[in-house]
Amino acid sequence: MKEKILIVEDNPVHTRLMEMTLMPKNYVILKATNGEEALDIATAEHPDLILMDLNLPQMTGFEVVKKLRENPAFSHTPIIALTAYPLGGDRQRIIDSGCDMYLAKPINTRELPEVIAEMLSQRQKDNSQP
Ligand code: MN
Repeated sequence: MKEKILIVEDNPVHTRLMEMTLMPKNYVILKATNGEEALDIATAEHPDLILMDLNLPQMTGFEVVKKLRENPAFSHTPIIALTAYPLGGDRQRIIDSGCDMYLAKPINTRELPEVIAEMLSQRQKDNSQP
């Protein structure tokens, strides 16, 4: 079965770039442009990995991740934070918020698919543990 990637991003230019970058990988790409939509889609579709812009309108990405992590269904879903400002105290805040890692925007089109593939394969190994 195809793996599902949920892209949560309010800037269509960034969304399009990520979508184009991941297209050759044959994932199912789901898209949300705000936190409410992200939570609805996550609940309905159970994505295998989530790309989360932290700077969203209304609910921030930090709040969305917190809500996801409170739900046992998403406690282990890999989440990659996307931020234009990954420096200083934000790094620790991003990890503390429940994100597994972060990438700076605009995303590196070579790095992104590699990171995603690695995280998905790691997740499968974790699942296969007795
Ligand atoms: Mn944004």
